[in-house]
Amino acid sequence: MTATPAASTPAASDPLGEHIDALLGRLSTEQKVQLLTGRDFWTTWPIEEIGLRRVLMSDGPSGVRGEVWDEREPSLNLPSATALSASWDRAIAKRYGGAAALEARRKGVDVVLGPTINLHRSPLGGRHFEAFSEDPVLTGDLAASYVAGVQERGVAATPKHYIANDYETDRFTASTEVSERALRELYLLAFEKAVTEAHAWAVMSSYNAVNGVTASENDLLETPLNSEWGFDGVVVSDWTGVRSVEAARASQDLAMPGPNPWWSEGPLLAAVASGKVPMAAIDRKVRRILLLAARVGALSGLGDAEPAGAGAGAGAGAGAGAGAGAGAGAGAAGSASASAPAVEDGIAFVREAEAEGTVLARNTGVLPLDPAAVSRIAVIGHNADQARTQGGGSATVVPESVVSPLDGIRAAFPAATVEYAIGAVVQEGIAEFPLDTITNPVTGEPGARVAFMRDGSELYAEDRRATALFWFGGDAPTREADRLDITTTYTAQQDGTVRIGIGAAGRSRMWIDGELLLDEDVPFKGDQLGAAFLNPPARSVPVAVAAGQRVVIRIEHDVVQDETLGGVLAYQFGTEPSDDDPADLVAAAVSAASRADVAVVVVGTNSRVESEGYDRTSLALPGHQDDLVRAVAAANPATVVVVNAGSPVEMPWRDEVAAVLLTWFGGQEYGNALADVLTGAREPGGRLPTTWPATMADVPVLDVTPVDGAVSYDEGVHIGYRAWLRAGTEPAYPFGHGLGYTTWTIDGVAATPTVTEGDAVIVTATVANTGHRAGKHVVQVYASRAESSVDRPVRWLVGFAPVRLEAGGSTEVSIEVPARAFAHWDGGRDGRWAYEPGTFTLHVGASVVDEAGRASLELE
Ligand code: BGC
Repeated sequence: MTATPAASTPAASDPLGEHIDALLGRLSTEQKVQLLTGRDFWTTWPIEEIGLRRVLMSDGPSGVRGEVWDEREPSLNLPSATALSASWDRAIAKRYGGAAALEARRKGVDVVLGPTINLHRSPLGGRHFEAFSEDPVLTGDLAASYVAGVQERGVAATPKHYIANDYETDRFTASTEVSERALRELYLLAFEKAVTEAHAWAVMSSYNAVNGVTASENDLLETPLNSEWGFDGVVVSDWTGVRSVEAARASQDLAMPGPNPWWSEGPLLAAVASGKVPMAAIDRKVRRILLLAARVGALSGLGDAEPAGAGAGAGAGAGAGAGAGAGAGAGAAGSASASAPAVEDGIAFVREAEAEGTVLARNTGVLPLDPAAVSRIAVIGHNADQARTQGGGSATVVPESVVSPLDGIRAAFPAATVEYAIGAVVQEGIAEFPLDTITNPVTGEPGARVAFMRDGSELYAEDRRATALFWFGGDAPTREADRLDITTTYTAQQDGTVRIGIGAAGRSRMWIDGELLLDEDVPFKGDQLGAAFLNPPARSVPVAVAAGQRVVIRIEHDVVQDETLGGVLAYQFGTEPSDDDPADLVAAAVSAASRADVAVVVVGTNSRVESEGYDRTSLALPGHQDDLVRAVAAANPATVVVVNAGSPVEMPWRDEVAAVLLTWFGGQEYGNALADVLTGAREPGGRLPTTWPATMADVPVLDVTPVDGAVSYDEGVHIGYRAWLRAGTEPAYPFGHGLGYTTWTIDGVAATPTVTEGDAVIVTATVANTGHRAGKHVVQVYASRAESSVDRPVRWLVGFAPVRLEAGGSTEVSIEVPARAFAHWDGGRDGRWAYEPGTFTLHVGASVVDEAGRASLELE
C-alpha cells in the first residue's frame, strides 16, 4: 500500500534548496499544513513573511481561461489536442505550449493545468478531444514538447490526469484494473518524457482509483514518478480528488481546491500531531510547493538562489500585460522575461496549427479548390455556421471571436456566390443568443443584465455579453445569493416561431413580455461537477414572433448551493433549435448544392456530445447529418465533407463523397484554417493520431462503463491500432493515415544493425516529394517482432518525423529510436524493463499499414 516517501527532495545542496530549507524552518506546523490546500478555487495560500505570494492555476489545456470563466476576459482558443497531435510535429507542440504560456502570463496565471495526456483507449471516452492519441510514443513526445514550450516562459505545465483516467463514467469512484505491464508500456509511458525530458514542474493526480487504490493515495505517485523519473515538482490533486488524510502519507502534495475537508487544518493537523502522518512527509510537500513557487516567480528574495533554467525570477507570471482587453488572442502583445523565446502572434498560430492538424482522409481530386475557377459554393451544415472550436468541460475557454467555416469560405472566395443551408440540426439543448440579437435593458448595450439577489434585494449585478454563464471562481457572490435575476430584450430575426428557454438544473421561472410562461424545477442528474453542470437540462417555450419584434425576457432562478463545490454556478439561456422538419432542411440543402460548383458540408458534434463528465454512447453523427450528406452527395458529385468533431465519428457515406477532411475542434481561427486548406493556401498537414473506425461495432476496445465499480483493461498492451491489427479488422482509416496534396516516395530504408540496452538505433530513409506542389509528409517507424516469448503488439510506433519539401525535393531523414522502445515490462509492481535478445523488424512508411520499406535489427 502507500509508502511514506523519504523527505529528501529537492536536494539541499544547491542554493535554492538551502533557501527553501531556511524558509521551511521559519514556518509553523499550522502554516505548513495550510500550504498544502488551496486557498480557494484556483490559488494557493500566500505567506507574506517568507515572500510567498499566491500561485494561480488555470485550465487549460487548449488555451488558458484565467481566474474567471467570463466573456469579458476572453482567451486564445487553440485547436483541440487531437488537432495538435494530428500534426505529428514536436515543433508545433512546443509553440502550442508557448502560446498557452503567453496567455497564462497575460492573465497572471502561474500554472497551466495541462496537457491532458490520458490515452484514447476507447473512442467513447468523453475527454478524447482533450487528449492526444491512442499511442503512448506520439503522446509522450508531443507532451514533452508542450511542457517545454510552457515552462521556458516561466509558467508551470501540469500533465494530467495521473493515471489510467481514460474514461469519464463514474469518474470519481471507478477503479481501473490494469496490469503493471500495460501501465508501464502505455499509460505511464505517455507521461514519462514530460517528466524525464521536459521536467514538468507539476503533475495532476486523477479522480479514479487504480487497482483499487484511489489515485491521490496511490503508490504510483511515488513509483515511478518520483523514485524512477526524478520528479521534483508538485503533485496537484484533480479538483476534490483528495478524499482522505491517508493521501498525505502518499506522494500527493497539494489538495485543490480549498478548503478540503481532510487536509485543511483539523484532521490533517491532528494526524501530524499523533504521528500518523510524519512531519517529514509534510516538509517534503511544502518544499516542493515552495520550489514550484520559486520556479514561477511567486517567491521573492531568492537572490543567488534563482531556479536554474526556470526563466522565472521576478516578473515572470506576474501578468506581463497584453492589456487593452482586445486581442485576447494576440499573444504578440504579451512580454516575456528576458530569457524567454520570441513571442509569436497567437491568432496566426491557431490558424497555422489547425491546418497542420487537418487530416485529408479522402480526395478523388476535387481538392484543392481554385478560387478563380469556382463561382458558386453551397456551404451546408449546422456546424458550418455554429462552428465547434473546442470540446466541453473544464477545458473550455471563452474566445473573443470565432471564425466559422462559413465566414472563412466567404473570405477566401470573394468572387464566388456562397449560399448557406443548415441542412440538419446538430445543437441539442439551449444555444446562446447571438450577441447582436439581445439588448441589456440597463445599459442599452448588446447583452443581458444579471443580478445576484438575497431576500429580494440586489447584492451585485453584472452586465454580460454572453448567455452561457459560468461562475467558477471570481468575485460574484455565488455563495451568498439565493436568486439570480436575468433580464434582456431579444430582437427576432425572422417571422415564425422561436423556442426561447433556459438550461440549468434547479428551479427557474421565465416571463416573456410580462407573462409567466415557464416555471419548472428540474433536479440535478449525475455528478454535479460533471453532467449537471456541463450538460444542464433544457426547457423552452414556443414564442410566435415577427422579424424585428422586440421580446422582453425576464428570468428568476433559485440558487441552490452545491455541497461538493460551493460557489460554482452555471446558467444558460437562449433558443432551442427546432428539428421539426428534417426533410425540408435536407431538401433546401440539396437544392443549394445542385446549383453550386462545389458543396462543402460541415458535419460534426458539439460540446455537449463531447465533454468532460460523461462518455459518449454512440459514434454516430447527431441528428440527420448522415441523411444530409448522402442527399447532397447524390445532388453534387463535387461534395467535400468536413468533419468538425474532436474524436472519431461514423461516416457511412465516406466512399460516396469526393473528399473528406477531418478537422477536429479547430480553435478560434477554424474557418480561416479550413479555407486555407480548401484552397491549397496551406497543406492539410495532419495524420491520424487515432484509428478512425468504420462502425462502432468494429472497435476492438470500446467499453468505458464500470462493472461493480471497475473498468478492466483486459486488453493489456493491445489498444488502438495494436488492437485493430490483432483483431484483423479494417477501420475506415488507419492510424497515421493522411493524404496531403502532393505525392511522396520513401526509399532506401536502413537502420543500425544492432542495439544494446541504453543505446539507440538510427533509422534512415530518403524521402522525396514527387508531385507538383510543396507539401508535408510524416515518416513513421514501427517495430515488430516475429518470434517472441512475450505477448507483443503486432506493430508498435517507435519514432516519427515530419518532413516538408518543395515539389521535386528530396532529403534523407534520420530518426533515433532508443533501445527502450524494444523492451517490455517484465513482472508486476517490482518488475523491470526486460530486453529479449533477437531480431526486430523496423517498418518505415506513411501509416501503420502503408509500409515503404523495412530494416532488421538485432537486440543484443
Ligand atoms: C478536471 C481537471 C481540471 C479541474 C479544474 C476537473 O474536474 O478533471 O482536468 O483541471 O477540474 O477545473
